[in-house]
Amino acid sequence: MAFLESHEKCGVFGVYGKGMEVARLTFFGLFALQHRGQESAGIVTSNGDELLSHKKMGLVSQAFREEDINYLKGFSAVGHVRYSTSRESTPEHCQPVIREDNLVALAHNGNLPSTRVLEEFLSSKNIDTSDSNDSEMMTDAIRYYLLRGASLEDAIRESYPLFTGAFSLLVMTRDKLAAVRDQCGIRPLSMAKLNGGTIFASETCATDTIGATLIRDVKPGEMVVADENGIHAEQLVEPNQKLDIFEFVYFARPESMLLGQRVNEVRRNLGVILYEENPIDGDIVVPVPDSAIPAAIGFAHRSGIPFDIGLIKNRYIHRTFIKPGQRFREREVELKLNPLLEVLGGKSVIVVDDSIVRGTTSSRIVEMIRSMGAKRVHLMISSPPITYPDFYGIDTPRQYELIASKMTLDEIKNSTGADSLNYQSYNGLIKATRLPEEYFSASCFTGVYPIDIGERAKELLLPV
Ligand code: AMP
Repeated sequence: MAFLESHEKCGVFGVYGKGMEVARLTFFGLFALQHRGQESAGIVTSNGDELLSHKKMGLVSQAFREEDINYLKGFSAVGHVRYSTSRESTPEHCQPVIREDNLVALAHNGNLPSTRVLEEFLSSKNIDTSDSNDSEMMTDAIRYYLLRGASLEDAIRESYPLFTGAFSLLVMTRDKLAAVRDQCGIRPLSMAKLNGGTIFASETCATDTIGATLIRDVKPGEMVVADENGIHAEQLVEPNQKLDIFEFVYFARPESMLLGQRVNEVRRNLGVILYEENPIDGDIVVPVPDSAIPAAIGFAHRSGIPFDIGLIKNRYIHRTFIKPGQRFREREVELKLNPLLEVLGGKSVIVVDDSIVRGTTSSRIVEMIRSMGAKRVHLMISSPPITYPDFYGIDTPRQYELIASKMTLDEIKNSTGADSLNYQSYNGLIKATRLPEEYFSASCFTGVYPIDIGERAKELLLPV
């Protein structure tokens, strides 16, 4: 099968608004979503006659110059930031996807673990899938219907059943902008308004940044279309809300709102509950910056143990998580973090991180803190053990690489070199969100996959 496997965690942003500087707004929106993908950035605009596109490898600030923004004229825009594994990190696959005829542009956050139905459909229509990833195949399916005269709404309605997986999509033709989510709403997507225009964004941090007012989330299974007649929404399938809980744990920015909850508050709650469930003693609570800071604050407040910054993060380092080979990843931790001797020396240090994936970061951090003369290093993890791979677009590795899939708690503790190791309980994780368990997909912790993972089920090594 020639399908290019994609492991993308991405951000999408779109604007529809006559008289607005849509490309500039999209640039700033993408800039606020940079944490969701650093490998490439792209914007496509529509001026009513044609779609104009600019896409490039690199960060948003590197991909666009003033003249690129000036070139991207129009009244609607879709933008995308992309993170993918290096093996697929080629300019041809930068998004938004746009084919030669410039009929439609599509930006996708998520991943389709199963593309069999989509591939069969396209092959039956003699559309070549040999060099296409999931997002490109989705574009081709929508384009197939558009080419036969369907409206954008009809083209999406017809193609929707072919999409098996996680998708928050923005789809733009010359005169319409549509936002669509999978039935479970695995990846977030919010809708806001600004000066009569409509904004769609992966996270509310991006709509806040441009001064837009949040309207609501695009609902799971819903299509919302903005055009010259305003906004119209349609439920394409019965919703079955299952937001990926890992958005709360690590992925989203703390100031974003997900399901009506501030991510920062949920992360603080995680720290509070982590202490309540594991009331250990120490001299200082130190976060692994940046993602674990709110949890460490919650832990410190609840325990009364002083919070301190003992690890300094280079703020110009990106989320360089997946790199080929273990050797690179080990070096990365040192490039990213420096320990502070005066804070850590002679102390019993409680170090809080949000998650352990392969275990590389934790081992390096324990070693770093010990090398500063710490008396003890207690590792506290604000989420449960990650035992199952992700298939819905957040880029966790294969199951055999996940340390918690192959070691017991004690073995992980020994392998990291910590004096003690405690994870968040699954119930604690749910409790911290203040929302019902059934609102979430927690597949990386439980192995329960709410959307069929199709042919990829054979990759699972552990029974569910
Ligand atoms: P590892 O070193 O493989 O155990 O990775 C754990 C570190 O990666 C933690 O410090 C997390 O904050 C961070 N992390 C967790 N999940 C992801 C992800 N999907 N992408 C990038 N970084 C992550």
